[in-house]
Amino acid sequence: MKYIFVTGGVVSSLGKGLTAAALGTLLENRGLKVALQKFDPYLNVDPGTMSPYQHGEVYVLDDGAETDLDLGHYERFTSTKLTRYNNLTSGQVYQRVLDKERRGDYLGKTVQVIPHVTDEIQNRIREIREQSKADVLITEIGGTTGDIEGLPFLEAIREFALEAGHNNVVFIHVTFVPFIKAAGELKTKPTQQSVAKLREIGITPHILVCRCEQPLNKELRQKISLFCNVPYEAVIEEKDVDHSIYEVPLMLQRERMDDIVCDLLRLDVPAANMSHWQDIIRKLIAPQHRVRIGVVGKYIELQDAYKSVYEAIIHGGIANDCGVEIEKIDAEEIEKHGPEKILSGLGGILVPGGFGERGIEGKIMAARFARENKLPYLGLCLGMQIATIEFARHVLKLDNAHSSEFDPNTPHPVIAMLDEQKNVTQKGGTMRLGAQPCQLVVGSKAAQLYGAFVVSERHRHRYEFNNAYRGQMEAAGLIIAGTTSDGKLVEVIELKDHPFFIASQFHPEFQSKPNAPHPLFRGFIAAAHNRIHHRPL
Ligand code: GLN
Repeated sequence: MKYIFVTGGVVSSLGKGLTAAALGTLLENRGLKVALQKFDPYLNVDPGTMSPYQHGEVYVLDDGAETDLDLGHYERFTSTKLTRYNNLTSGQVYQRVLDKERRGDYLGKTVQVIPHVTDEIQNRIREIREQSKADVLITEIGGTTGDIEGLPFLEAIREFALEAGHNNVVFIHVTFVPFIKAAGELKTKPTQQSVAKLREIGITPHILVCRCEQPLNKELRQKISLFCNVPYEAVIEEKDVDHSIYEVPLMLQRERMDDIVCDLLRLDVPAANMSHWQDIIRKLIAPQHRVRIGVVGKYIELQDAYKSVYEAIIHGGIANDCGVEIEKIDAEEIEKHGPEKILSGLGGILVPGGFGERGIEGKIMAARFARENKLPYLGLCLGMQIATIEFARHVLKLDNAHSSEFDPNTPHPVIAMLDEQKNVTQKGGTMRLGAQPCQLVVGSKAAQLYGAFVVSERHRHRYEFNNAYRGQMEAAGLIIAGTTSDGKLVEVIELKDHPFFIASQFHPEFQSKPNAPHPLFRGFIAAAHNRIHHRPL
């Protein structure tokens, strides 16, 4: 097995995860089996308990792990299957070390960061090696070089590289080369200092990926090469993308990054054939059609809170050769100004997942507007609960119908807590999580789109459609289009006599990829496009 470690310098949010994932795409397309993992130096056991303001989206895996959103990039850019072992936090490391200490496994020794914490970190690399049987393992270290909390991880990979041996390890450092407007030039000093910091720890990067707004000229590359002790051709330019993050693998290929990696690791593999990827980019840059989709949420000012949702919408566009403009709509704005003003003119409305009461009424107004105006609607998790509440209130005329999450005293809890959730007191990792089979109903639009009757989708929620209202709802035109295999939990709802109104209790966005757009998103964008282009004048 060969190992690639990706670290980051100067500032956070440089897109290390994207770079790691894009390198994964290239290596896979050279015929290698690739595994990816992320180390996060924070003390939370997982990001499941963190607010979107702190952390962005929580990405859920098949096995129910709540993970860092970079794992979403890994799954979208490669065919690697991830499990909870692919995301390690300091919290998990310390939990394991302390469990061992309490069991007496350390046989009277003083338990220390080196070697006990670092060993535990290395164990995770070995675990993935055994499990994945991959040719190459790409490990991304979260945080920025120089952070105190990242030190044990850097020490662990330094030691590990020694064990793995020459030609088996590549260190890639993703750094920032800022453009200083007043001087009119790119500056290399922060990169030099960040590399110096790494070398102090004993890591000399083989490759520098320089994130920059302007192209790096020859002189700058030479300067970075000389001062950072990295060969000239291994100074890689990674400019801000013009159109889409899916351009990154092609950009890195142009910079011959995968060639350099394969040379360093002595991997004799053919060049990557990226023609299918080029086709995706063509559809993103010059689509045949265009449509505007409104995403009605609570964290719309944050880039990352609905990451997978935005990506899946774009994939739905790729499937229809349709450019999608995503309108991020604050649900509270709908409450203030009414839905017409904000939602008219859109091709479709999507209500994503969420927690907490803020903006709920605005989302209900959006679902009503979509139902009444026959505007395509896709609801995800909370988005299905919203559609259910809306239907109960305005079609069944059940006044004050609600989810017991938002109104524990509602006379009509059409969405209510699962029985198994009622005695749960701990917050972390206790929701209904991960992939479960869903049985789709013959004749439903969902079954038609999936082209299957049993599908597997990922969950992350505590509340469910209340079966006490199922009969009334169905009689009034709500279609229960999907349930759990035992028929007990409602998983998908649709509306009769509507061009596209589908909502799911699960999160389809986690399984969509640019080269395999999710069927529900494909259908949603197709419907939105149809509406725009076939609307009577
Ligand atoms: N808050 C809702 C629940 O817990 C929906 C969760 C979600 O959208 N992920 O059931």
